[in-house]
Amino acid sequence: MASRRSPIAISGGILISKLQEANNRAEELRSLIYYHDHRYYVLDAPEISDAEYDELMRELIAIETEHPELVTPDSPTQRVGGEPSQAFKPVRHRARMMSLANAFSFEELAAFFNRISGELGTDQIELVCELKIDGVAVSLTYEHGMYVNAATRGDGEVGEDITANVKTIQSLPLRLFLEAPPDVLEVRGEAFLSKEQFKQINEEREELGIPLFANPRNAAAGSLRQLDPKVSAKRNLDMFVYALGYVEGVAFTDQWGLLKYMEAAGLKINKHIKKVGSVQEAYEFCEYWQDKRHSLPFEIDGVVIKVNSFARQEKLGATSKAPRWAIAYKFPAEQKTTVVLDIELNVGRTGALTPTAVLEPVVVAGSTVGRATLHNEDEIKRKDIRIGDTVIIQKAGDVIPEVVAPIVSKRTGSEREFAMPHECPVCGGEVVRPAGEAVARCININCPAVIFEHVIHFAGRAAMDIDGLGESVAHQLLDKGMIKDVADIYYLTKERLLGIEHFADKAAENLQAAIEHSKERPLARLLFALGIRHVGAHVAEVLAETFGSIDALSRASFDELVATPEVGPKIAESIIEFFDEQRNRAVLEKLKSAGVKMEQEAATGKGIARNLNGLTFVFTGGLTQFTRGEAEELVKSMGGKASSSVSKKTDYVVIGENPGSKYDKAKALGVKIITEDEFKRLVQEISSRG
Ligand code: NAD
Repeated sequence: MASRRSPIAISGGILISKLQEANNRAEELRSLIYYHDHRYYVLDAPEISDAEYDELMRELIAIETEHPELVTPDSPTQRVGGEPSQAFKPVRHRARMMSLANAFSFEELAAFFNRISGELGTDQIELVCELKIDGVAVSLTYEHGMYVNAATRGDGEVGEDITANVKTIQSLPLRLFLEAPPDVLEVRGEAFLSKEQFKQINEEREELGIPLFANPRNAAAGSLRQLDPKVSAKRNLDMFVYALGYVEGVAFTDQWGLLKYMEAAGLKINKHIKKVGSVQEAYEFCEYWQDKRHSLPFEIDGVVIKVNSFARQEKLGATSKAPRWAIAYKFPAEQKTTVVLDIELNVGRTGALTPTAVLEPVVVAGSTVGRATLHNEDEIKRKDIRIGDTVIIQKAGDVIPEVVAPIVSKRTGSEREFAMPHECPVCGGEVVRPAGEAVARCININCPAVIFEHVIHFAGRAAMDIDGLGESVAHQLLDKGMIKDVADIYYLTKERLLGIEHFADKAAENLQAAIEHSKERPLARLLFALGIRHVGAHVAEVLAETFGSIDALSRASFDELVATPEVGPKIAESIIEFFDEQRNRAVLEKLKSAGVKMEQEAATGKGIARNLNGLTFVFTGGLTQFTRGEAEELVKSMGGKASSSVSKKTDYVVIGENPGSKYDKAKALGVKIITEDEFKRLVQEISSRG
């Protein structure tokens, strides 16, 4: 029990002891951690992210380290989390199943290494690095080579009997491939779900209206602890083994040898393992996989670093919770919980109303996230996201933040469901959602939000590329009534441009020159700039190549259009609708009169193959002229591929400011490296050849 001291009198009459305060906080943290342990280990429905849980645990460890007298035997720092569920037969482990101590930085890894070097009296220590699979720990027992039982970790001493459920794992051998199998071989490993399988399970749950699993780990735990093994079988669980439990009739000298033995016995081990001789090398392995984790078909949440020699492991021993010869290096969190403060609507260029969650800002994977797109009304309904909900958000790698799922158990009843309005929030125009479509649109062609987005798109880099016509200028041009549509841009005189806030002679001249210059853009760019629905940069190239002029395209029949490569009925209809619209025809007339080029230059005869077809690009470092998403979209819209990891198959690595490890990898693999400017030129060159 914690010791108690009598309070110390502090001036002002407040009676409080610092120790008492620490004790109170420690008790508070313990109950919080117990609560979250139960939700996580027993109910498979966490209410906070792992990172937030780890913070609570770190705070408790800090208090207990400062005041060892406050440590209680049942403190979560002293025991393996989890309690076996009553629904399963209890299994007492013959060798304890432990947790792992954590490191969150190189410094913490180095501190681990220094501690074990001190205890072993040498810094020549061979370490084995393994991926930390984000699944559920399972113990498997083989007797005379035959599978006899499986158990969960439970509280480390007693787990749950899940023999029948684990038996449904296809990759698990029911008989070991060993000529002389040991009497007893107990191995430990991780049962997990592939990312693909996890997605499928959640899709099915969405359809059934059941709360979604927050991550593959919770889904795997839920799938394993099914009372009916037939349900587990359907979940396609998989398993990697990585440790030894109780054994009779065989002896091992090190972890590496154990892994190889288990592999030869037909058990599945993860291939991404490495023997290293220093903490630096171990850290490099961690960094490498931190960067590459998204290329794996299953989730990992870190790297486990283990002392290779079993004799040394024994010498180092264990605490009541974790071995002292291993450490888990945890990657920065990619999931956090936060609150949906509001759901706002953004009106896009095509009038599409896109709901966006306004979030209580939270740092995820190194950057602050305050908003996340919710895509459309159906998505909100499917995930059942309500205003006021506490939600799990995720930002995996370069991917834009997404709301994964609401935490239904945190609802208070004051949450509000979202409803798509019937009137546009910007112009009050009618909002229509055609049957069979997911997107609701404002159908007022004069909606200021629609025109604004169109101007931005029209002047954008991949379209008419009018330097200096960004969001703030576009807002002013529209607000001051200087333009009403995109064609008006070509009628702006220098005098009128001087009416823009902070615009002096030079800025006005530059913008005017950029506008003038843009008149010469190739037909494909103009076609893309017009913003015809479903006509992206690539289709615009095909159309320019095939029809040669705006006039010819505007006269094309439905049959002629669908006879064009890559143009399907949806695109054809959209083109016809565009040219049928009187207002669009007027804009085109105005563009023509202003001298904007409406024809294709002399045919080059090489067809449309001169795009980024087949080329794979990887971006690294901070881009200054595009956002990462824009650059990747551009590549994709030109038929190329954008990838987040470098391999021999990568054609170009585009480097921005402070490029990361992908740059080093590209150099090592001899992949072509180009700067952001070179990338821009390449794209422009290809577009202008259209
Ligand atoms: P842990 O997940 O940090 O590490 C230990 C586990 O790693 C082992 O039991 C094993 O299952 C697994 N592992 C994966 N690959 C391995 C490998 N190659 N070698 C050895 N072990 C490997 O510790 P834990 O005790 O299982 O769980 C604690 C963690 O669980 C917390 O740090 C937190 O992230 C999470 N948690 C979250 C909540 C929540 O509410 N969000 C609640 C409880 C726990």
